[in-house]
Amino acid sequence: MSDYKLGLDYAKAQDNLDELSAYKQQFHIPKDADGKALIYLCGNSLGLQPKSTKAYINQELEDWANLGVEGHTEAKNPWLPYHEFLTEATAKLVGAKPIEVVTMNSLTANLHFMMASFYKPTKERYKILIESDAFPSDKYAVESQLRHHGFDDKDGLILWSPREGEELLRNEDLEAILKAHGSEIALIMVGGVNYYTGQFLDFKRITTLGHQHGCKVGFDCAHGAGNVDLDLHNSGADFAVWCTYKYMNSGPGSLSGCFVHDRHAYDKDLNRFTGWWSHNKDTRFNMRHEFDVLPGAEGWQLSNPPILSMAAIRASLDIFNEVGLEKLIKKSKKLTGYFEFLLKDLGEDTIRIITPENPEERGCQLSIQVLNADKALHDKLTEAGVISDWREPDVIRCAPTPLYNSYEDVYNMVEELKALL
Ligand SMILES: *Cc1c(COP(=O)(O)O)cnc(C)c1O
Repeated sequence: MSDYKLGLDYAKAQDNLDELSAYKQQFHIPKDADGKALIYLCGNSLGLQPKSTKAYINQELEDWANLGVEGHTEAKNPWLPYHEFLTEATAKLVGAKPIEVVTMNSLTANLHFMMASFYKPTKERYKILIESDAFPSDKYAVESQLRHHGFDDKDGLILWSPREGEELLRNEDLEAILKAHGSEIALIMVGGVNYYTGQFLDFKRITTLGHQHGCKVGFDCAHGAGNVDLDLHNSGADFAVWCTYKYMNSGPGSLSGCFVHDRHAYDKDLNRFTGWWSHNKDTRFNMRHEFDVLPGAEGWQLSNPPILSMAAIRASLDIFNEVGLEKLIKKSKKLTGYFEFLLKDLGEDTIRIITPENPEERGCQLSIQVLNADKALHDKLTEAGVISDWREPDVIRCAPTPLYNSYEDVYNMVEELKALL
């Protein structure tokens, strides 16, 4: 990618050439007190609101106002099967078959529901492997699963750590752990795209390795969904979970997505927590039937879902579906490569990027360490109108998203950073 050039003219020219540039207009871009658009590079934390979202939610509010309970069947988009309207686009976005995905609950809750089915410890095989720098909620979740099953949460946890002096995880080190401890590990559960470094792990390699050692394998894709090509079905993973409020632009605290590989789709003996929404749709309302679990990921639903949140997810998925993952990732790689090029030009003794250099091993996020900087630098960036996020001890995370960030956004961000150094 050495054909990037410095200067604002180049950024503007790239925006003109960019076939996705018009999508920025489809989003509400937050503004400063003077009404000037901020440079929003925080889609890894909370994605921006599509302008269409309001109409999708209003439709459901209207139908609720006009129809009351009848809306379950009579709404323009009937609420009973509403989650099914999200299935196909979700499956496409994460590289799954429709039967493998469902939208339900929140992320950490889904992680627990998946572990209820796929963490089946025995006396000999009870440990859980997680990356050492896992997102705190994931670490708390797996520790509490260990305790729930009567194990010690220190003894039961195996950490896959970067080597001394490094930030990124190496597959060879996972191989070594599995060689030494594979028979003790019941579950490998790692963040597919690390929230801190932005490293996108090799799902297929990890899954194959885990399965060879008799472990179940699951991924938290909170930082992957809507950002990278997860290709979940082909990875062979047993399960995956993600949220829809980061790169999937569905609003604060919105519902989570869940993937269960179709090799488990018809396994009625798999232990799980159930509710009326996991029950056969044809007899669900007869109420007095023996439990009859739905096939596929839908069979893990518990409750009738919040339609207003699902409406926001639909609004967003319609945009993703229109653009298509291929074009999205093509732009993403180019835009993030450009960002990297400009940052490197600031001097590699000032700026260190801890995210992998290989575009196949990252999404759009770059995690930047600035020499001798502390949180004050991040605060000044915010004052200058650049919305990024700070992670202790010394990392600024910036995620130029291909749907609503431009080359000019990236150029301006680096100019603001340069002015502060
Ligand atoms: C964002 C994120 C979460 C947040 O969990 P919620 O249950 O949605 O609050 C959990 N895990 C990872 C890896 C995340 O990136």
